[in-house]
Amino acid sequence: AFNANVAAANAQLNAFIVPTPEKALEAADKTDAKRAKGEDLGIMGGVPIGMKDLFATRGVQTTAASHILEGFVPQYESTVSQNLWNAGAGMLGKLNLDQFAMGSSNETSYFGNVVNPWRKAGGGNAAMSPGGSSGGSSSAVAARLAPAATGTDTGGSIRQPSAFAGITGIKPTYGRCSRWGVVAFASSLDQAGPMARDVTDCAIMLEAMAGFDPKDATSLDMPVPQWEAGLNADLAGKRIGIPREYRMEGTDQEILDSWERGKEWLRDAGAEIVDISLPHTKYALPAYYIIAPAEASSNLARYDGVRYGLRDLPDGAGLQDMYAATRAEGFGDEVKRRILIGTYVLSAGFYDAYYNQAQKVRALVARDFEQAWEHCDVILAPTTPTASFPLGSLSDDPLTMYLNDVFAVPASLAGLPAMSVPAGLNSDGLPLGLQIVGKPFDEQGVLNAGLAIE
Ligand code: GLN
Repeated sequence: AFNANVAAANAQLNAFIVPTPEKALEAADKTDAKRAKGEDLGIMGGVPIGMKDLFATRGVQTTAASHILEGFVPQYESTVSQNLWNAGAGMLGKLNLDQFAMGSSNETSYFGNVVNPWRKAGGGNAAMSPGGSSGGSSSAVAARLAPAATGTDTGGSIRQPSAFAGITGIKPTYGRCSRWGVVAFASSLDQAGPMARDVTDCAIMLEAMAGFDPKDATSLDMPVPQWEAGLNADLAGKRIGIPREYRMEGTDQEILDSWERGKEWLRDAGAEIVDISLPHTKYALPAYYIIAPAEASSNLARYDGVRYGLRDLPDGAGLQDMYAATRAEGFGDEVKRRILIGTYVLSAGFYDAYYNQAQKVRALVARDFEQAWEHCDVILAPTTPTASFPLGSLSDDPLTMYLNDVFAVPASLAGLPAMSVPAGLNSDGLPLGLQIVGKPFDEQGVLNAGLAIE
């Protein structure tokens, strides 16, 4: 049924770069065979999922939505995708995304925009952004092309698209899901997580994805909790922190209203609402847009025309010319912008003024959260300052685009688990999301608060 949905609607939504219907059917057949033999089906037994095209999949093209990786077919499988197959899941296809996961609207993909299945009520037929970078994932799940999908979140890329498409997505604690085989953007921030229709599906899928991996030096060597079994929407005795610095100018009134409703819902579930302060919040976004490009400029040095995908070797050209031609042709504008910014902030004359300073800010942002945990168990905030916007409306305004992640980035810098859950529609009929941020390793607390909201 999901293969049929993909075949019917992908041309309009452009959520999948490459559908792989045979892989989904293979997993279904395997599950049937196991069932016939009375064997354990695995917690994802037979479930077809979409795979963000940032995860290396053996024998299936993996592009990061960039021309420079077009035609790259890995010989290996990412740990997270392998974990999902081991749990019985099957692949519906590789999902579109912002190029190298850089973006908030899915407009930086070499393979074209992804369209959000949601439209403004009475707003004509303007195609809306599914958010980014995991916009193929959010669009596919919202449109029922997949019951669930993988996402990755470096500075909001699971939470913001989930909010824009009215679905649920959780970024676990940094290190929960292995980064091995995931195309690297900013390694100290990159984290995989599930995007699905509700909190329970996210809990099940995260259990399948997570786990210690000796191949990732920053992988957490901790057992994976049974999050689904631990789900509990009774929040008696829990304290919910409301960070006063998140009441930012430029946030839609309707988003602030939904935040108020969220407080009521959590109070109804038995929780106590407490005011907290995260004083360095306003410095988090600028620090992120130094640290993430710095790491990206280093990670993306490997695309040289020799090892992967595209090679542009002009007639009579030498090695340097090949590098230059390949990278000029292969990377999109946003990726080049990040490489330029990253190289600049890491250069000898500017390292202290920018990169070092941003690292200090990162430490202060993390300390803000540590102090907040003395007063609360989880934090409730908006996921984004606005609902989805029409495709094309912000594409020549990178700063406004970057501001979309203003509420998402602090938890990324601190490595904390954070989730977006649907919180109703605005007056245009577009979905809004609420964000729950938890203590390190407390995905359960985050999921439970989410369950109380949904
Ligand atoms: N939108 C942010 C960026 O462009 C976050 C992206 C992400 O989390 N991958 O960097």
